[in-house]
Amino acid sequence: MLLDGKYVSEKLKGEIAGGAAKILAETGRKPHLVAVLVGHDGGSETYVASKIKNCEQVGFKSSLVRYENDVTEDELLQKVAELNADADIDGIIVQLPLPKHIDPEKVTEKIDYRKDVDGFHPVNLGRMQRNLPSFIPATPFGITLMLKEYNIETSGKHCVVVGRSNIVGSPISILMARNTYPGNCTVTICHSRTPDIKNFTLQADILIVAIGKKNFITADMVKEGVVVVDVGMNRETSTVTKSGFKLYGDVDFENVAPKASWITPVPGGVGLMTIIGLLRNTLASANKEVYK
Ligand code: NAP
Repeated sequence: MLLDGKYVSEKLKGEIAGGAAKILAETGRKPHLVAVLVGHDGGSETYVASKIKNCEQVGFKSSLVRYENDVTEDELLQKVAELNADADIDGIIVQLPLPKHIDPEKVTEKIDYRKDVDGFHPVNLGRMQRNLPSFIPATPFGITLMLKEYNIETSGKHCVVVGRSNIVGSPISILMARNTYPGNCTVTICHSRTPDIKNFTLQADILIVAIGKKNFITADMVKEGVVVVDVGMNRETSTVTKSGFKLYGDVDFENVAPKASWITPVPGGVGLMTIIGLLRNTLASANKEVYK
């Protein structure tokens, strides 16, 4: 059956809009998210436009700060410092990737962790690992909200995560191992140096894939009844779609779906839930739920 990101995200957006309306009624202000975008990467433009549209839909204020590719690292860090100091701003995101001359780690660490609604700052990652209140990275957060919505059993299950990026693979592996729900899994992390990945994926009760390789997981690599979460977003140009491109996951959906008990589609799965993770973090920041 489908883990339907469209259905869940619409439902949760309704709840978030309710939270924003309450803040507006009580304080006269809206939760405020600022996105910083450098350059004109097609994917980044699409993601940022979608984040801003979603903010408007739930009654948040959103602002976009744009730079050309030749912005210096110092200029960008200075802007982040300004945004940190602005009391009207609840959340700051700097869209990645950044041009090669800018160190993304420096920029991430410059963002005030109390406004780091992407959850990438080491303070938030460390607090997440300790099970303390924190902003959880948006995509892993969205995945946990999806599993919760469908009451997917996780305790005692073997969760295999393929990919170990800082923004998806590593944090979701920590979340799935934590002593909470969703969690309490035995977690295996696979990456590009893992020999015979199939040996591991075949053992998965829950399989989370985030590597960026179209249709990498094939039907012979999963067991019957597996729960599959496909994070992959592989864009290919297309003459058929209006946008001029088509999205593919990391999982061969057509052939894996018949064996899976639950599976996310691409598009319409994790991508929509990532936005929800970001909106939830921004609302929590406006409510001072994580940091006073
Ligand atoms: P990433 O930084 O691109 O890193 C890829 C990870 O996959 C690395 O850990 C790499 O291993 C591993 N990997 C690459 N090839 C592999 C192979 N053949 N076998 C096993 N492991 C392999 O990862 P990411 O940023 O998490 O992105 C992954 C995918 O998710 C992309 O398609 C991206 O667009 C998508 N994504 C989607 C969302 C969403 O909202 N749906 C959000 C974020 C990312 P090493 O560490 O050994 O190099």
